[in-house]
Amino acid sequence: MNALLQKPKWREGSILLIDPLDAPKRTWCFWEKDKGSWDQLTYKIWEKGNFYDPMGKLDLQMEGYSYKMIRSEDFLEHFLDKINQFENLSLIKEIATEVDITKKVVSTEKNKIEAEYIFDSRFGLSEIESCEQPTVLQHFKGRLVKSSTPIFDESTFTMMDFRTVSNSHCSFVYVLPFSAYEGLVEYTFFSPEVLKEEEYDQLINHYLHKIYPDVQFSEIGSEQGVIPMSTYDFSQYNSSSYCKIGTAGGWVKPSSGYSFKMAEKKSKQLVENLSNGKRLDQGVKSKKYLFYDKVFLSILQNENELGNQLFIEMYRKNRASKIFKFLDEESSITEDLQIIRRFKSKPFLRAINKEFL
Ligand SMILES: Cc1cc2nc3c(=O)[nH]c(=O)nc-3n(C[C@H](O)[C@H](O)[C@H](O)COP(=O)(O)OP(=O)(O)OC[C@H]3O[C@@H](n4cnc5c(N)ncnc54)[C@H](O)[C@@H]3O)c2cc1C
Repeated sequence: MNALLQKPKWREGSILLIDPLDAPKRTWCFWEKDKGSWDQLTYKIWEKGNFYDPMGKLDLQMEGYSYKMIRSEDFLEHFLDKINQFENLSLIKEIATEVDITKKVVSTEKNKIEAEYIFDSRFGLSEIESCEQPTVLQHFKGRLVKSSTPIFDESTFTMMDFRTVSNSHCSFVYVLPFSAYEGLVEYTFFSPEVLKEEEYDQLINHYLHKIYPDVQFSEIGSEQGVIPMSTYDFSQYNSSSYCKIGTAGGWVKPSSGYSFKMAEKKSKQLVENLSNGKRLDQGVKSKKYLFYDKVFLSILQNENELGNQLFIEMYRKNRASKIFKFLDEESSITEDLQIIRRFKSKPFLRAINKEFL
């Protein structure tokens, strides 16, 4: 919707949003160079970042990038305001129960709506469960804590902390400090199967106890999620008037699980295609990055215990700014090779052999 509104041409047509708007609150973080189009909605910006492994702390060389956070409630409020401002925008707070791609009709419990174009963000994990493409899940629980003493440096976020994790699975702790006393401590896995809720709780307790042995914490909030990381062909049902978007459209970066900035880019491309009469998803996926993602995910799926070491190698041997550019799919071949050649090659060769030969 936002990308459509940027083009005068699409401000004329009527845009209907069907969404019950009952998704749980969450926070979206992303890195970005300089000022960005979401700055007015940003809740917190970190100019500095770090990374911990058993060798100690590494300060991330951000070189112009900052890490930004948006709260879903602020995002929603902003767009509800827009819906009220623009006459051609409307909202039905219902669940879409069926989409007839050929007849171009969306059904809800109470309505049947015909549309020239349909953008569909319905997604269920079952869609990718038994797919043949490399697939893992980014699954996590985060606890918003308040500490008894000032322990956080609110100017610096922690991208990954490997100091307390087991190496049997790819997992790390992610920390977003909001003040000296408050921060989100998130235990994250990139692995094939989710854990029981109490297992994440135990792991967060272990982290807090080990890193801050003499500090008391109270819990003031939490968040939890499962994000698919897959090179599954999400676009197979797309047509000239129907397009899957968001997670359902494969807009989550398969090797990182980040999606917010990807969604901004991909929806711009989609609207460009729409304006120029091209297939809606043309150019939305890059073959080069799909290849990299497939190889990396194959290692995570088949040799998950190597994951921590891969991330440690990546952050220890490359500047964070270069990693961000690579993960944003904005790097040149020369820059890609600089990153790729710094990894130990054997797991990658095994993955290429498995997926491509
Ligand atoms: C706790 C948490 C933290 C996260 N943190 C980050 C982060 O820091 N950075 C990042 O990039 N990503 C993050 N993510 C992932 C990110 O939220 C998702 O990848 C992204 O929101 C996917 O976009 P989407 O449009 O597919 O889904 P959503 O944002 O979930 O939007 C889908 C919308 O479709 C609606 N909908 C679904 N089914 C129907 C239906 N049948 N009928 C009508 N409406 C329907 C839902 O109500 C929802 O509003 C996080 C996810 C969670 C859960």
